[in-house]
Amino acid sequence: MTGYALESLPCCAKCPRLVDYLGSIEPAKGRSRSEYWNRPVPGFGDPRARIFLVGLAPGAHGANRTGRPFTGDGAGDFMYPLLYATGLSNQPGADNIDDGLILTDLYISNAVKCVPPQNKPLTAEFKHCRPYLTAEQNRLPNMKVVVTLGRGAFDSYMRLCLDDGILQRLGDFPFAHGASYKLSNGVWVVACYHTSRYNVNTGRITEQMFVDLMHHVRDLAENG
Ligand code: SF4
Repeated sequence: MTGYALESLPCCAKCPRLVDYLGSIEPAKGRSRSEYWNRPVPGFGDPRARIFLVGLAPGAHGANRTGRPFTGDGAGDFMYPLLYATGLSNQPGADNIDDGLILTDLYISNAVKCVPPQNKPLTAEFKHCRPYLTAEQNRLPNMKVVVTLGRGAFDSYMRLCLDDGILQRLGDFPFAHGASYKLSNGVWVVACYHTSRYNVNTGRITEQMFVDLMHHVRDLAENG
């Protein structure tokens, strides 16, 4: 699949529903609309990364406010301290785009770059945004492991690989937390439950589960 140029991301309007939604989001209590990023949120991280972590989409009052994936919402509040604990960043905190956070051996983005209503992108929106995912991974020449957070990110990444001819049948790669697949291009795909506040609060994912999975991912990046 050919990627769009990432330079076109800031003004992308390929998903009319999402463009409309961006214009309608009411700021959280105590915040003003001018504080909000309210446009596509690009990935960020180490350009030499071996690990590419792909989430679903920006949170309305998290990444869509701060302009950086998983920054300023519950999913990031859970995840960033654990990425620090596993040696993939320089600090545990991540609450704004200028907070000094530096990722090491890790690049983070989302399958869909604009916030969707109810956190549910449509099939066509995943499809429209996949070329940006391709463009991002094309800029990671050392990439060895792709960690997908949640089924939506997993399915979209595997669909990208199908379109690229890297796999033949999606049904051969079922989603399960911890499932690890080595694709024909040598890249590992590791599925993880999403670190959403709901999943954390219901115990679907715990700190220990996430840390264990990231240690496994680091081992694959090193020895896989
Ligand atoms: S979700 Fe992706 S493809 Fe759709 S408008 Fe946003 S940046 Fe463009």
